[in-house]
Amino acid sequence: MKKVAILGSTGSIGTQALEVVEKHGMQVTALAAHSHAELLAQQAKQYHPQTVCIFREDKADTLRSLLAGENIEILTGMEGLCRIAGSRCADILLNSVVGMVGLLPTLTAIEAGTDIALANKETLVAGGSLVMKAAAERHVNIYPVDSEHSAIFQCLQGNAGNRIRRILLTASGGPFFGLTREALAGKRAADALRHPNWDMGNKITIDSATLMNKGLEFIEAKWLFDLDPSQIEIVVHRQSVLHSAVEFEDYAVIGQMGVPDMKIPIQYALLYPQRVECPTKPLSLTDYGTLTFEKPDYETFDCLTAAIDAIREGGVRPAIVNGANEEAVAHFLRDEIGFLEVGALVRAAMEHVPGGPADSYEAVLAADSAARAFVRQRIADR
Ligand code: MG
Repeated sequence: MKKVAILGSTGSIGTQALEVVEKHGMQVTALAAHSHAELLAQQAKQYHPQTVCIFREDKADTLRSLLAGENIEILTGMEGLCRIAGSRCADILLNSVVGMVGLLPTLTAIEAGTDIALANKETLVAGGSLVMKAAAERHVNIYPVDSEHSAIFQCLQGNAGNRIRRILLTASGGPFFGLTREALAGKRAADALRHPNWDMGNKITIDSATLMNKGLEFIEAKWLFDLDPSQIEIVVHRQSVLHSAVEFEDYAVIGQMGVPDMKIPIQYALLYPQRVECPTKPLSLTDYGTLTFEKPDYETFDCLTAAIDAIREGGVRPAIVNGANEEAVAHFLRDEIGFLEVGALVRAAMEHVPGGPADSYEAVLAADSAARAFVRQRIADR
């Protein structure tokens, strides 16, 4: 029986992963959540992990009282996440926390030699060079959970030694596809949170509306598959049926299709290389009838352009873009800034926060903090 630990178990990916885990009788050894103590306690009683962790220290007492009398170790904060990540308690660690906060637990799991199912894309955006170097040194496998990267990973099976000519990274276009900047100016968080195809957490849903999500995924793909940015083409595909494709040297393009349901890539990452029945629906292409493909609007959705510029420049630039975006999105979710300000703040951080090499965790963290402070100051100065 394969053992799994989940960081981010109460989020969208975490709860869907537990459905997969339950279907296949995997053993859950540890669960960690950001702040949802009630759901975490309920999961702990259902799946019997040895350890649970709540990130927000102020929720620890609630969790302790909910789990009183249970034989479960309770941890808190970043220290707790890293204790789980470094404990070798599982065969695979699913990292599905949101944001740059996932980087240190990823590095800790790699150091411990534990394979990772990676749903925390900010890990690779901010610390891609550190993570990929450490994983290669420790012979740790990183299985992508993000649907596009899982698709690319699936297309590469059986192609060891065949060079990738190009990646076609598909994008749904988000809820604001086709809108002008004028129309976008009045959009609020509640408008952005209505995504047409995917049911996801708040942060990624906003990133999907600004197309920053695709920018982050562009960077994620570069690191996971060792690509030059010139090898990645973003294609808007509104139906989210083709999850991405790989073009090889002979111009053969191999893609992966399926219904837009994260349980398929989650299961592939957790059970790789097995393919067994998944708790989802089969794809009916005739129900869709037409699949469409278009170019993204890089001028209107400037977050996407900022992310691509950042990875072309390299060093800590992607960490700056990511940190600025995380901070700006948090303000947008509280309706403190407008939709277009997210992109403007990210671009301003790109211009004004100093770059440098991303050669240590401390360097990446410093760039992230500087970008967040810059955005907070810009908002305060308005
Ligand atoms: Mg994705």
